[in-house]
Amino acid sequence: MRLLLHAVILFLAPLVSVQPASAGELRCLATTGMVGDLVKAVVGDLGKVEVLMPSGVDPHLYQPTRSDLMKVLASDVIFYNGLHLEGRMDEAFIRAQESGRSVCAVAEELPEQSLLRDAEDLEAHDPHVWMDPKHWRAVLMAIRDRCVLLDPDGREAYESNTKAYAKQLEALDAYASQVLQSVPEKMRVLVTAHDAFGYFGKRFGFEVIGLQGISTESEASVQDVNRLVDVLVQRKIPAIFVESTVPEKGIRALIEGADARGHPVAIGGSLYSDAMGTAGTWSGTYLGMIDHNVTAIARALGGQAPEAGWRSTNSSVSSESKP
Ligand SMILES: [Zn+2]
Repeated sequence: MRLLLHAVILFLAPLVSVQPASAGELRCLATTGMVGDLVKAVVGDLGKVEVLMPSGVDPHLYQPTRSDLMKVLASDVIFYNGLHLEGRMDEAFIRAQESGRSVCAVAEELPEQSLLRDAEDLEAHDPHVWMDPKHWRAVLMAIRDRCVLLDPDGREAYESNTKAYAKQLEALDAYASQVLQSVPEKMRVLVTAHDAFGYFGKRFGFEVIGLQGISTESEASVQDVNRLVDVLVQRKIPAIFVESTVPEKGIRALIEGADARGHPVAIGGSLYSDAMGTAGTWSGTYLGMIDHNVTAIARALGGQAPEAGWRSTNSSVSSESKP
């Protein structure tokens, strides 16, 4: 595949001329919906933002299509998560940079000390930084800086757009802290299908146990399942969570295993880990996906959160950010 990518990109490169952003029309490409929402918030009507990965897609496994590669080469700037989240696209981004595109791995803009290590590969970092709204706010600032660099005439607008969205992120973070702290301390354990919630756990004081590792590329073994069933039974954890981008099979095995040992475990809901919900719905936005997750986790683990989540308590969100 790598060779094929190479060939396609080399073939396409001469077809697309390298141009700086034309005044006020920044052509932006984002890989995941989460990155796309930040770029859209910063750019506003000063440019066009296209998102490559449709909702519900697993970015660890995403294979770029030929038309994706065309889009990469037709953009002024490409924002991707980085830290190998989009492992199968790394090559395309290197080529895009070589052909004169501005390429920004947004998670790699965070200071190294705020990054978590991948437990299975200590050389690598955990890429799921969007799970901490504070980190995502820092990423927003990095995107703003890149836009200003590429289109200095738009500085004022980029800055005020950024400020407005940063406020939303701060309010979301405050809601999350509040409702997650209402979960009894011994219940602050989050069991999910893969290790996407490390930053979430660190930010909000939850122990996080993923059935699969940081990437979804490896499958959980029988030993992994048994080890986790032990944890569920011993600690009497009432609920575990499925993820929208990961098959439920592993989580079902955990529930059956715990049940066989006399400890019933419920599915606390489906969490959005590596992709947002359906486009055009509230959970199809970054703010909505985190709202959904936080609310579901708090309610399933004995905490208190309004049934309809943060949005129902925040009038600025419900009026401005409704899709
Ligand atoms: Zn992941």
